[in-house]
Amino acid sequence: MTMTRTISSKPGRALGEEFLKQMLGQQKRLIVDRANQFGAAGLPSAEQLAETIAFAPQDGNIWLCGQRMMLLQGSAFGAIRRELIEALGLDKARGLLTRIGWQAGARDAAQVSARWPEGDHASLYSAGPRLHMLEGMVNVEAVRFEIDSNIGHFYSEFFWHNSLEADEHIANYGVGSEPACWMEVGYASGYASSLLGRLVVFREQECRCMGHSACRIIGKPADQWEDLDVDLAYLDAGDFLSRSTYGSGGETEVADIEEAAGDQVIVGISAAFVAASQQLYRVAPTQASVLLTGESGVGKELFARSLHEASPRSQTPLVALNCAALPENLVEAELFGVERGAFTGAERSRPGRFERAHGGTLFLDEIGTLSLSAQSKILRVLQEGEVERVGGTTPIKVDVRVIAATNLDLRREVEAGRFREDLLYRLNVFPIHLPPLRERREDIPLLMSYFLRKFSARHGLTPTGFSSRLVNTLLTYSFPGNIRELQNLIERGVIAAGDGEVIDVVHLAEAGEPLRSQSIGLTTEGRLASVADCDSAKTASNSPASSPTDSDDGHLAVAPELASLQAFMSGREQELGTSLKDIELRLVRLALARCGGNITAAAQMLGMSRAQVSYRLKDE
Ligand SMILES: [Zn+2]
Repeated sequence: MTMTRTISSKPGRALGEEFLKQMLGQQKRLIVDRANQFGAAGLPSAEQLAETIAFAPQDGNIWLCGQRMMLLQGSAFGAIRRELIEALGLDKARGLLTRIGWQAGARDAAQVSARWPEGDHASLYSAGPRLHMLEGMVNVEAVRFEIDSNIGHFYSEFFWHNSLEADEHIANYGVGSEPACWMEVGYASGYASSLLGRLVVFREQECRCMGHSACRIIGKPADQWEDLDVDLAYLDAGDFLSRSTYGSGGETEVADIEEAAGDQVIVGISAAFVAASQQLYRVAPTQASVLLTGESGVGKELFARSLHEASPRSQTPLVALNCAALPENLVEAELFGVERGAFTGAERSRPGRFERAHGGTLFLDEIGTLSLSAQSKILRVLQEGEVERVGGTTPIKVDVRVIAATNLDLRREVEAGRFREDLLYRLNVFPIHLPPLRERREDIPLLMSYFLRKFSARHGLTPTGFSSRLVNTLLTYSFPGNIRELQNLIERGVIAAGDGEVIDVVHLAEAGEPLRSQSIGLTTEGRLASVADCDSAKTASNSPASSPTDSDDGHLAVAPELASLQAFMSGREQELGTSLKDIELRLVRLALARCGGNITAAAQMLGMSRAQVSYRLKDE
């Protein structure tokens, strides 16, 4: 896919990445005049950006640069744009559309700079117009671009051809006297401001909506424009810098929590995650018991810690106990303490977790695994505010806030007679459900870069980032082990890839981790194809000698059915999240792949008859 237009009248010198860096390093100002090679070889390249597109129709998702996108008809946008103008008036509608564009541009900039942290300003900046083109809004031709190494000076001028918004405006209103590519101008301003960390304002000097053959836009730092108030009014500049980019907003939030929770933080921007954290901050100031539910690995302990840190008890101890980690005969002694001589081996009296948490918070993980007897005693502590040590006779006053967590459905446990209903009610005063990672996929890129930073620092390694193939694979992977699994994968990737390398699927697959990409991406010719096909096409053209079996489904990856089976067998999951039939079929396919499609050999490998194997394949 060719993203830059070549202007033959002035054949510019090819601006390689090195050349750009040199220019930025040696001269105060980089000037790209008639910038036909505008950022042509810097990071990210047009191809790298196109590789970040992934279609995952099985999830109803489209991804671009790790962000969930949507395909919307240009004409539907035109219709709603017209309705906005008629309902709100020209000025308000213009402001709204400018800010939509700003939001989109700021988000793209945040993703680009997080993903290519080693990119210089000039090439990262040039990714903005490219993304704008990929998103189907305009065809950008760079006219002039100047930036100095400290971004003290910035000037950018473009031609926009084929603007979608201009098409829609002209279709509805014809040619007039004002420029009308509002959303697109907002995008340019949002992208540049978010990327460069200072307010950059773009204005349309000419527009197809005014009868010009193309739109011409100029961007400068805000303080270099006159009559800035007009632009600021459309941008609703009152507090737009603080709430406009989720990149910077998200980081502030992360930083705040990071300080509070120490080593690890809770990270996310997805609707499901934000809902859960809002509940956390609502309940934190109270004394209410909190029940955290969710699958294994979703971060319940981290949430409990953040809740404690955000509560008035933050200066007091947080005591944690994983109820499943202790044998049943020791749980009660751990929870309530023991008096000397209570049982063989109890040579000294010692306090239990409730006593040690006095004045603070007690986190009881996997509470669903407690015996009914321990449950009754916990209920009594919660009701009376007193514990009695094992073998003791004197009740001891305790003031403890309890946060409990479980990956079981406690209502079902109550029905089955394994959990006390009255204790459930007592704990369930304020339930918070933590969504599994596959239901908050928007957070995956954020978590990936968080863990990349964390583990690079911990191991003193400097991998440069993630391959698009890996990002797309992880965006469509089912993550039976949730965040913990992602965290382990990234740590493994950091170690396997090493310094200066990009972490790729192979670095995780070497460790035998179950990964299978189900996404559809864009080939270099701009066609859609499964990512494996895009990759193998590329592999074939780049290094014809490489073995095609490297990308073979059966070798690189373990299917989700088998991952579910593994999770079930290991006890990580309580339920088998797939059918026996699917597991069988998966094994049949795997055996077939190993035997080069020979059904008889595959049947032998599986201890089945040839007819059984054929039957299963027919059933597929
Ligand atoms: Zn225009």
